[in-house]
Parts: sequence; structure tokens; C-alpha cells
Amino acid sequence: MCVHTHTFWHCSLCLDTMSLCLSRSMASKTPVGFIGLGNMGSPMAKNLLKNGYPIIATDLFPESCKELQDIGAQVVDSPGEVAERADRIITMLPSTPNVLEVYTGPNGILKKVKKGTLLIDSSTIDPAVSKEMAVAAEKMGAVFMDAPVTGGVGAASLAKLSFMVGGVEEEYQAAQELLTCMGANVVYCGQVGTGQAAKICNNMLLAIGMIGTAETMNLGIRLGLDPKLLTKILNMSSGRCWSSDTYNPVPGVMEGVPSANNYQGGFGTTLMAKDLGLAQNTATNTKTPIPLGSLAHQIFRVMCSRGYANKDFSSVFQFLREEEGQ
Ligand code: NAD
Repeated sequence: MCVHTHTFWHCSLCLDTMSLCLSRSMASKTPVGFIGLGNMGSPMAKNLLKNGYPIIATDLFPESCKELQDIGAQVVDSPGEVAERADRIITMLPSTPNVLEVYTGPNGILKKVKKGTLLIDSSTIDPAVSKEMAVAAEKMGAVFMDAPVTGGVGAASLAKLSFMVGGVEEEYQAAQELLTCMGANVVYCGQVGTGQAAKICNNMLLAIGMIGTAETMNLGIRLGLDPKLLTKILNMSSGRCWSSDTYNPVPGVMEGVPSANNYQGGFGTTLMAKDLGLAQNTATNTKTPIPLGSLAHQIFRVMCSRGYANKDFSSVFQFLREEEGQ
């Protein structure tokens, strides 16, 4: 029995899906559409180009388009035009309103999408909107999957991202073929929206862990401990976490992390506040208690209004240091 409740071999929808899968894999180097050439999207599109996929791209910023055009991508004016020319499209946009605009806006993908097109959204957005986009895409005969990422700009450049994929399992292989050119790990999570769910859960824990590490380090320093020594002790003890051993928020403790560079680069406080807002919405909708996630959301929001919006989220350490004198 198939998902359309027909005996599998007699369901025309399933047979259509199978032949689309086959034709996509046979034509593996046909053009791939890419929409959103920002900090993450630009290196991701470059990695697809490196793997021999012709790219048809668009972005609101002409400078971002020019950079990709110079290395061989074809640039067009709107998401709709990308959809006219490519039957596999990846979107990497800031947040939910941008995704709605790019998919359902007047010049959006869904106005021009071809039947059988595979749409992969790697932006971090509300899982409920991913589900809405999947329904809207299905109405046009296309398939939508959510595939948000963990790993920052460095991982995007080195094709070391981790993708968490939600959507129809039969389409996963076709998505995987492209995602493995941009990432080291590709994990199938379940139905559409579950990739976003996994991403939101990870970032909520990351935010809580970073605030915990920052306040712990600050307390230790005030108690007279050397920050490098305290870090060494935490990292050999049960307090160890990614924020203490890989991405320490205290300037001078580690090299090559944003705290060593005045919190420039990395993962912006605005984006972290956005992801925590998504966690808060989903928790409210499912009546799930997230006391520490909610508090983390408020802390990063306050930071955004106090000049930290464009700094890396580990600047919560600096924020706490500045708060203490008040
Ligand atoms: P970004 O702001 O650098 O890039 C987004 C791009 O989308 C911009 O170039 C913008 O011009 C373009 N865009 C917006 N609306 C558009 C439209 N209507 N049409 C065409 N282009 C449009 O953002 P980013 O840092 O690349 O992040 C993208 C997504 O990845 C976000 O959802 C973010 O949460 C997620 N993410 C980011 C990181 C990171 O370290 N930066 C890590 C993991 C996940």
C-alpha cells in the first residue's frame, strides 16, 4: 500500500514519482538553482559549482550575484526565473518572511515551478512554514524538503556542514546527492518540518550552553581564577561542553574563535535570537516547558538592543561583564 492508499504498482502518483527520481539521478549534472547567496549560501553554491553542477542563481544583492557570476554561475533576476530554468532548487535565506516571499511572492518559485521540481530549503525557519510550503509545492506538482544546517561559514566553505533533512523519504536520495557536495553529514529526520525541529532543538541547547559557559567563566575570573586554567579544569570535568572546549567565549583563552577577534564573524546574536524565537513559538504551540530556552531567548534579544546584534553570540560573555558594573 502506498501513501496515496493505492496498491503500489497501480498508483499513478507513485509511478510518476519513481520516474521523476530516475530521470533526476540520470541527469545529475543538470543545472541547480540557488537562491540566497549570503554568508552561507555563497560558499555552498561554490561547492556545487566545484562538483560540476551548473548553477542558476539569484539574490537581492547584486554584489553577491557578481561574485558567483565571475566563477561561472548564471545569474537571473528573480526566484521565478530560477524555477523556469532548474528542476532542483536550493534556498538559503535569513528567516521565515524571506522564505514566504521567495516561494509564494509575486515573482516567487511557486509561480513558475515545473512539475517534478525538487525544492530544498536550507534556511532555519518555523517548521510549520516548511509544512505549508510542502503543501503549496505539492499543489504545483513539486516536492519541498527542509534541510537546515549546523556548522558556520567555515564549515560551509569546507563542505563540512551537517544537514538535517525532513520530507518524503522517496525523495531523500535525490536531495542527498546535492547535499553531500556541501556537507560532511546528511541525516534524514522524518516527515517535512522535522529537519527544522532538530535544528531548533540543537540551537536552543547551544544557546543555553553558551550562556552557562560565559557566566561560569565570568564568576571564576571574579573569584581569582586564571581563565585558561579554569577552561582546562572544566574541559577535564563534567562541566565540559562545546562552548567551553571548542568555542570558548573568553578573549585570550583560544585562538581562531570569534572571542579572539572582538567577536567578529561566527554566528550572529541576531540569528541566535531568531532561532530561540522559533524554539519559543514551537514550545508554546506544543505546550512544552522550556524555562531555560525562554530565558536564553530574552537574554539574546536584550543583547540585540544593546549593540551586540552583529557580534558573534559568544559575546554574551562581554555582555555579562558589562552588566556587572551596573
Ligand atoms: P545572510 O543574511 O548572510 O544571507 C541571506 C541572503 O539571502 C542574503 O544575501 C539576502 O540578500 C538573500 N535574500 C533575502 N531575501 C531574498 C529574496 N527575497 N530574494 C533573493 N535573495 C534574498 O544569512 P546566512 O548567514 O547566509 O544564513 C542563512 C540561513 O542559514 C539563516 O536561516 C541562518 O539562520 C542559517 N544558518 C546560518 C549560519 C551562520 O553561521 N551564518 C549557520 C547555520 C545556519
